[in-house]
Amino acid sequence: MASSPTAARPPEPSTLRRPAVFLDRDGVIIENRADYVRSLADVAFVPGALAALARLNHARPAWPILMATNQSPVGRGLLSLESVQVINRFVLERVQAAGGRIDQVYVCPHHPEAGCACRKPAPGMLLQGAAEWGVDLSASVFIGDAASDIQAGLAAGVRPILVRTGLGAAQTAELARLGLTPQIVPDLAAAVSLLLDEAAVHTNAP
Ligand SMILES: [Mg+2]
Ligand SMILES: [Zn+2]
Repeated sequence: MASSPTAARPPEPSTLRRPAVFLDRDGVIIENRADYVRSLADVAFVPGALAALARLNHARPAWPILMATNQSPVGRGLLSLESVQVINRFVLERVQAAGGRIDQVYVCPHHPEAGCACRKPAPGMLLQGAAEWGVDLSASVFIGDAASDIQAGLAAGVRPILVRTGLGAAQTAELARLGLTPQIVPDLAAAVSLLLDEAAVHTNAP
């Protein structure tokens, strides 16, 4: 399920496929909350996240920046999908005001036991984003704070990066249980620095 795009446009079908940056929301861009982010008053940006998205926005060539978020409180009857969309619009507005951009938002509103194809660890939202934005999954990354983000990334064929913000620092045991060994960085700012450094290396390569 997708909301309307904000800045960049999807490519023409003939356009070469390109890398994208997929991002989780809670625990990566805004702080995770044990009882869910239910209102604008619950929105607190992770320190450095807005500045990091502004830096990512200046990467050239521009990467599509696609957010993929599980919002089970909708399926649990705790929150309306409209409320989730209001919160997402607020997040996108704040990101834009800080000089960043998120091109599209994908939401799984389903209950964890609904068996849908979009709730992470399933790769549905990433696959949808890839189809809609002409994304080369094998050249893309997914930045998340939970083992389920890492699983979704791997299932979609993208490189997963775990941040230690949100749930990230507490995921060590779960990652070990699942046999997952993602790259781990302190936060979104560090993940963006990593990506920009790698892009610079590629740009300068002979
Ligand atoms: Mg998260
Ligand atoms: Zn779903």
